[in-house]
Amino acid sequence: IKFIDAQFVITAVEPKGYPPGHSAEVAFVGRSNVGKSSMINALTGRRKLVRVSNTPGRTRTLNFFDVDLERDGERHRVRLADLPGYGFAKASKGERASWEKMITTYLEKRDRLEAVVSIIDAEVGPTPEDLLTLDYLQDKKRRVLVVATKIDRLTKAKRKPRLQALAQQLSLPLEAVLPFSATEKIGVEEVWETLLKTFKG
Ligand code: GDP
Repeated sequence: IKFIDAQFVITAVEPKGYPPGHSAEVAFVGRSNVGKSSMINALTGRRKLVRVSNTPGRTRTLNFFDVDLERDGERHRVRLADLPGYGFAKASKGERASWEKMITTYLEKRDRLEAVVSIIDAEVGPTPEDLLTLDYLQDKKRRVLVVATKIDRLTKAKRKPRLQALAQQLSLPLEAVLPFSATEKIGVEEVWETLLKTFKG
């Protein structure tokens, strides 16, 4: 994969603030601190497109990015939507409710949304909120790609068995759970390959 360009588009909370959708869009969901910002940076070939925070639960808006890339001689422009992370322990009830509204509205209404990347910590496994989110996405008939990040934290011998266990827990075929590491740039090609294929199907 060759990264041509990546840029921040806009921050939004409500549908009227969403950028007009021209290109295929992919949304990223996961619990806060799972490594979502790092993943988006790795998938756009940038170090600091999205701020990686040490303070979990900071992003409270939807953030849109455009990435231009080339694969097998073909150019693609893809819009990425970074959804606020869930499961932030310190969030108040009200904050949780507004988070939920923001996310569900987006996931239900966004027309050009082609796929949702559900990010799971490879070491921790799916949390109850991850499972709820996956159920919800299935219910809304959204195409989902599960990406197990921080795979670098597991020894090489443990990776495949862990992916198999994850797939089983999620009732998915093994190839539907992709290993990823932002720090070691594992899975960047595979995630893009899968996403670009999804847009065509
Ligand atoms: P976000 O809150 O989901 O956006 O998570 P961040 O991208 O800000 O990352 C949260 C923490 O996990 C940071 O300390 C990152 O350095 C770390 N992290 C993110 N991705 C990886 C990864 O692939 N491997 C490892 N070992 N650490 C990671």
